[in-house]
Amino acid sequence: MSNEFHGLQSQAEPSVRLGPVMQLLNGEWVGSADGRTLPVECPANKKLIAEIPRAGAEDVERAVQAAERAFTAWKKVTPSQRGRAMQKIADALEAQLEDFARIIAHETGNALRTQARPEAQLCVDAFRYFGGLASELKGEMLPLGDDILSYTRREPLGIVGAIVPWNAPAVLCSIKIAPALVAGNAMVLKLAEDAPFAGLFLAEICQRFLPPGVLNVVTGLGAECGAALASHPRIHKMSFTGSTAVGKSIMAAAAERIGPVSLELGGKSPTIVCDDADEEWVVQNVGTAMRFTRQSQSCTAGSRLFLHESIYDSFLEKLVKLMNSYKIGNPLDEATDMGSLISSKQYGRVCSYIEEGLKNPDVKLLTGGLPPTSGPLAEGYFTVPTLFGGSSNAWRLAKEEIFGPVLVVIPWKDDAQVLKMANDSHYGLAGYVFSNNTARAIRMAHEIDSGWVQVNQGKGQLFGQPYGGFKQSGQGKEQSLSSLTEGFSRLKTVTVNLTI
Ligand code: NAD
Repeated sequence: MSNEFHGLQSQAEPSVRLGPVMQLLNGEWVGSADGRTLPVECPANKKLIAEIPRAGAEDVERAVQAAERAFTAWKKVTPSQRGRAMQKIADALEAQLEDFARIIAHETGNALRTQARPEAQLCVDAFRYFGGLASELKGEMLPLGDDILSYTRREPLGIVGAIVPWNAPAVLCSIKIAPALVAGNAMVLKLAEDAPFAGLFLAEICQRFLPPGVLNVVTGLGAECGAALASHPRIHKMSFTGSTAVGKSIMAAAAERIGPVSLELGGKSPTIVCDDADEEWVVQNVGTAMRFTRQSQSCTAGSRLFLHESIYDSFLEKLVKLMNSYKIGNPLDEATDMGSLISSKQYGRVCSYIEEGLKNPDVKLLTGGLPPTSGPLAEGYFTVPTLFGGSSNAWRLAKEEIFGPVLVVIPWKDDAQVLKMANDSHYGLAGYVFSNNTARAIRMAHEIDSGWVQVNQGKGQLFGQPYGGFKQSGQGKEQSLSSLTEGFSRLKTVTVNLTI
């Protein structure tokens, strides 16, 4: 069957009704085994984008079989040739960057200028970065004496299963596909049902430079398709990004086959602003750390703001001004800073947290609130940046990952007290500290129980920095050399008797 997915490349505009979109199995674009489909809507206008295959266990089995067949030859391709394939994918993707970015914006509701275009570029960077690391898949000679030649070698794991969420669907696919394939594995990737099109677009480009079956991509629901993949007995590793609740089930399934997993899960990250940091640049960075221009649908969002009591009012005055300045609207409009949430489910969830905040007499709504119910923003799942002041760290909104633009502010007095509160969470993904006293900020960064802490900035991840959470925010690292070697290859020791 031909790949009708090409239709999306130049038509990433609202209200375009497309033909059936296919999934990629063994180098061919096919529907689901039983012919069932799922609708995918555009979150900015609630209109249908297209139907996708609703894959189940049979599709996953076909994908695993295709990967197994392809793996035999792919693992024999030299690492440098595999790296070269990733470089070619990066070049081809770069040539279609704008189409790619528009698809991301259209399906996620993320604004093209502030989020989707940078995300598209990050995908190119991921393929270049990991393609360039192919020669690092090396072992070492072990000094055991002149009579023994003992060395380690890195081998691919086999079939890697990967599952991604919808919030940064393209880059999350890229940081799994590129290292897994460079390391010589074959892959079955399950896309998010709410935002599958950028992943399919990417797969189509990858497929031009890969033998059939090296990369297989399935689309479907988590409980059907995702669970079938996670529990498949012949998967050698699962790489999962998503919620902590589902991450636990992925880990339980892997225990059955004693297989490795990497988990990139949720977060409720602390942002600490010290008494000497009541400045405009800090306000801007607190907004960036909260990922407002992604509607705060980011695992690393600094969504618990610990603000020193001595600067509480003056800092919040500036922060409210910033939060009210974001232009919210059509994600494809160049003027838009902030787009829509992903789905009706997420919209309902975020609104229910805001409703709870509005009913709590102990906190104060400083800006935002429930989204408008009429006008252009009511046509999609748009919300507005919302700030609740005077929160306790124990309040439900300060503990749970909201995954929407709702920030809670918690006042503090001394360093020991704020660090205790910052670490009082079952999450440990990211953290941010702002102070003009860099030594004090670094001391705080060392005490924060999170996998990634930034001092005096609130930026996104960079390739080359191991990224991954502590506690229930995950296990394993991504986006770095160690994630390639430790995450997607296995180490074998070979010992040779030289006296024979
Ligand atoms: P989710 O866990 O509901 O879904 C993620 C993926 O898992 C989707 O593809 C879904 O279909 C699949 N899935 C759902 N149930 C499954 C099951 N029972 N078995 C197998 N697969 C299943 O998460 P979400 O709501 O789509 O994404 C948001 C979450 O992802 C947030 O918690 C966020 O913090 C987290 N996230 C973490 C990172 C990170 O790097 N740590 C990055 C992005 C998102």
